[in-house]
Amino acid sequence: MLLTFCVLLLVGNAQATDTQLLRPVDWRPVLIRLQRVAAPWCGEQTFRDSEGRMRCRVLLAVLPHSVPAGAMGPGLLTLGQGALDLLPEDELAHVLAHEFAHFVLGHPLIALRRLRPDQLARAAERAGKNTSEFLDWMAMGIPPVHAETPTDRHEIERDADTLGLYLAGLAGYPVAAQASLWKRLAEYPALNAAATATHPSMPDRSAHLHRVALRFCEQLLEGHALVPDAERLRPSVAPEEVASLRLLRSGVCPL
Ligand SMILES: [Zn+2]
Repeated sequence: MLLTFCVLLLVGNAQATDTQLLRPVDWRPVLIRLQRVAAPWCGEQTFRDSEGRMRCRVLLAVLPHSVPAGAMGPGLLTLGQGALDLLPEDELAHVLAHEFAHFVLGHPLIALRRLRPDQLARAAERAGKNTSEFLDWMAMGIPPVHAETPTDRHEIERDADTLGLYLAGLAGYPVAAQASLWKRLAEYPALNAAATATHPSMPDRSAHLHRVALRFCEQLLEGHALVPDAERLRPSVAPEEVASLRLLRSGVCPL
């Protein structure tokens, strides 16, 4: 449903060209790290795992065809096999972190509000529910939308990019990997053409993410809380919990 928001994932048909990628990355550890660091943003969609750690209740479905990545609804992200074939682990983490950000910011609910009645009815039918049940199910399973969330699609993407970079960094993935990700995707011109209708351009997103990465590393260096400056992108948890956010691994900065 949120596929229209998400750039990346028209890479589904792309073939891996990096000979170092002999086999797809194991995405499971990436997902678990992101589940852990996204927990403070996840509201009621958190759970405690067998080791007592809080995690965000989000699963990933890898689709065998060209469908890209997206945040589909309650607790489900999707990723095309093509993205797995194409991207090394650090870059894959940034893609998934972007989708996590869409989820915890409630963006699938915004996409839902934009559906025409016939589209809504079809979405409900696919989920095996009537429209009313479907709306309740979505509202209960997705963190709420902040009142200051922008309405412009490009701005929504920018919010997901910003928080996604923080989540990837907190999960221990180098922030510089966002730059190599964009460089790699630039090798696929069809991506640019397909994405610009609903997304900021790739150079625009890349430049924005570079600024966000600088800010993240500045906060890390100065010992400040590792959360975005915009209040709407911060977790709604106690200040001490925000202050205690730590990287899962070192080596995230410098750029
Ligand atoms: Zn997106």
